[in-house]
Amino acid sequence: IDFLDWDWKSNDKEDEIMARIDEAERKAKTIEETRKSLPIFAYREELLNAINEYQTIVIVGETGSGKTTQLPQYLFEAGYTKGGKKICCTQPRRVAAMSVAARVAEEMGVKLGYEVGYAIRFEDCTSDKTVIKYMTDGTLLREFLSTPLLGDYTCLMIDEAHERTLHTDILFGLVKDIARVRPDLKLLISSATLDAQKFSEYFDNAPIFNIPGKPYPVQVCYTKAPEANYISAAITTVMQLHISQKNGDILVFLTGQDEIEAVQESLQHTCRVLGSKIRELMICPIYANLPPDMQSKIFEPTPPGARKVILATNIAETSITIDGVTFVIDPGFVKQNVYSPKTRMESLLVVPCSRASAVQRSGRAGRVGPGHCFRLYTQHAFHNELEENTVPEIQRTNLANVVLTLKSIGIHDVMRFEFMDPPHEQALISALNDLYALGALNNNGELTKLGRRMAEFPLDPFLSKSIIWSEKYNCTEEVISIISMLTVQSSVFYRPKDKKFHADKARQNFVRPGGDHFTLLNVWEQWVDTNYSMNWCYENFVVYRSMSRARDVRDQLVGLCERAEVDLNSNPNPGDLVPVQKSIVSGFFMNAAKLSRFGESYQKAKYGEPGRTIHIHPSSSLFQVNPKWVIYYELVLTSKEYMRQIMEIKPEWLIEAAPYYYSKSELDSLEGKKKMPKNNQNNQNNQNNQNNQNN
Ligand code: ADP
Ligand code: MG
Repeated sequence: IDFLDWDWKSNDKEDEIMARIDEAERKAKTIEETRKSLPIFAYREELLNAINEYQTIVIVGETGSGKTTQLPQYLFEAGYTKGGKKICCTQPRRVAAMSVAARVAEEMGVKLGYEVGYAIRFEDCTSDKTVIKYMTDGTLLREFLSTPLLGDYTCLMIDEAHERTLHTDILFGLVKDIARVRPDLKLLISSATLDAQKFSEYFDNAPIFNIPGKPYPVQVCYTKAPEANYISAAITTVMQLHISQKNGDILVFLTGQDEIEAVQESLQHTCRVLGSKIRELMICPIYANLPPDMQSKIFEPTPPGARKVILATNIAETSITIDGVTFVIDPGFVKQNVYSPKTRMESLLVVPCSRASAVQRSGRAGRVGPGHCFRLYTQHAFHNELEENTVPEIQRTNLANVVLTLKSIGIHDVMRFEFMDPPHEQALISALNDLYALGALNNNGELTKLGRRMAEFPLDPFLSKSIIWSEKYNCTEEVISIISMLTVQSSVFYRPKDKKFHADKARQNFVRPGGDHFTLLNVWEQWVDTNYSMNWCYENFVVYRSMSRARDVRDQLVGLCERAEVDLNSNPNPGDLVPVQKSIVSGFFMNAAKLSRFGESYQKAKYGEPGRTIHIHPSSSLFQVNPKWVIYYELVLTSKEYMRQIMEIKPEWLIEAAPYYYSKSELDSLEGKKKMPKNNQNNQNNQNNQNNQNN
């Protein structure tokens, strides 16, 4: 691949510099020396003084300056955990929470889970001894449910604030609120980018503390022409670098596990073919679902003579720092949730990243010495096709979960919650309507008993409703199994390139009538029957890791059922699919779709736009079966808009599950029995009025 301003001939002079840096890096520094060498160390006293003086401060520093790993330790050393109190540091990503906690435990010479621990959804690795607790922003949010004033903590560090994740944005409002009633509480808002002014203003002009970094220059190279396939372009660039450049590790930004695995496989294949003709290439993937023992591999020093290539998601952008990287390859994409309040559809899309992201990514090449960043797109695309900044997640998500959480924390008037960037009003109204249709709110917008129970589960309201409702239908065990499997659905089946035929056959054997939910249930139940066998997974092309994770999730859900007072029962007649189908419909009625009269496409049963069709994903057991009515778990946009994890249903169940959401006439008209009512809007209003009277 040709890049502007770049010559593939190895640059000897630079290599020499790199070799020296490599050598210096390899001379093992003690932990103490490493800590003192971080840019933040010089500001330790100043920082502690500022924290002492002000309740809230905003801290800005380059990635790798030591904010995440050092600040909590400084606070601990300064005595902020006396009397059994804790310091909390939130992270948007669970991999970051785990890996940083492990690092800090090591620096402090303690066992992970004792003095230093982490808590993420479905996993709590802390103890009574824990004084520094790393957690995801979502986990801290849930702690507000049980302890609204967070009395256990003396300091809250909301880290990676620039990421503006949904949970972080809500935490801003909540922590600002409790800081008013807890003058003893310290708030640290830390960010890797310079737009800290906004945070400062939001927190009543809190002082901004800058940690100057001294990164090395990074040369940015663009492709001369657009690349049709960024995956193969990334693979080619890695190999070109590996062959032509003597030193320096490579970091590649990809959008998800599937891409990472594909690139890993291809690189391994190429290296095998080239054999001893090239140096060793150590390939390290890093993404959210990677098991912790494999995560730590990226931090291991590269063996002499070898080169490390890290295949990472956005997590390597600012959340975790990997030393030794000199080459960054940036295809310029990211996987993002996109929500349309109009159609109420949420879909996971691969979209171009923002210019701000691209700049952060290139910065990762200049930590140990001068670096290079290869953008797999043109300079023109950088200036004209990328957005300036990423839109905060709160403005592109279904807010049902957020509203439910806020309501259960006691924030009744969600429309007046102090958001840093308020979500679209329409999105909030849809969320309130959805919760109302689910039965979580009454017609005064107050939490119902059902809503309170739903909030006990760290799940989307659609899932928690299904669990709670399944008790009535005598099939909680089955529904919990299905929901646990749905949390890992994208990675249950293994399909290696050279064994596609066998893998597909194995998968076909799991198929059960009714749809993908029952197929997943079947996989789960068979695995349980083998006593969680690893071998069985291997023989049946099932991913053991995903199954183990589903098992962990399921154990947690069983525990949560007890808290939410849901009795566990099991379908006495497993051949009867209806109880399970009705339970799933009770939560997922909004994801109903009807086969169009001609062809194989579907249309959403409600809020569908004429002309906008959705399709059954080819991996579904219902592909080409095309039942008249289906419920789907998620929408994914690739070449078309696809539904994934699909179940066959009957339209009358929709009315049974959500009488205020669907009307018979509406569904009849979809079936072609009657003409569409002329004025849909009126129809909707009437329904709501009727609804209010009935409740
Ligand atoms: P910041 O939060 O400012 O981006 P960090 O505190 O995360 O910075 O990182 C500081 C240093 O700690 C980095 O140089 C990084 O190399 C090192 N570090 C962080 N996590 C780990 C880990 N899991 N293993 C080894 N080194 C780590
Ligand atoms: Mg950090």
